[in-house]
Amino acid sequence: MKIDYRAFYQSREWRQLRNTILQRDHYTCCMCGFKSVPSSRLLVVDHIVEIRDDYSRRLDPSNLRVLCLHCNERRHSGRAGAAKRRAGSGGVAADGTPLDSHHLWNQVEVDDDGF
Ligand SMILES: [Zn+2]
Repeated sequence: MKIDYRAFYQSREWRQLRNTILQRDHYTCCMCGFKSVPSSRLLVVDHIVEIRDDYSRRLDPSNLRVLCLHCNERRHSGRAGAAKRRAGSGGVAADGTPLDSHHLWNQVEVDDDGF
């Protein structure tokens, strides 16, 4: 099934629920404890079970949690990284490591390439 994420994230239901979850969790990242303010753009409301895995839980408060941008990146970078490595797009070394040392992938710990 093709899911229109853009329409979903712009829907009034989602925006209202997103505010509710931010309030419920006190504008605090559930992974690192980063706390922010209601108007902050540093927090996201994350689907624990992703929409693509269970569309019916997209508006289920028990499936939602607050993450800061950093933790959200960490959570999603593994999958995105693997996909990009498979695609073999430019800007990466032969082993799939991004050439830019400031790239997120080079800042997170990886446990599959011991020295
Ligand atoms: Zn965090």
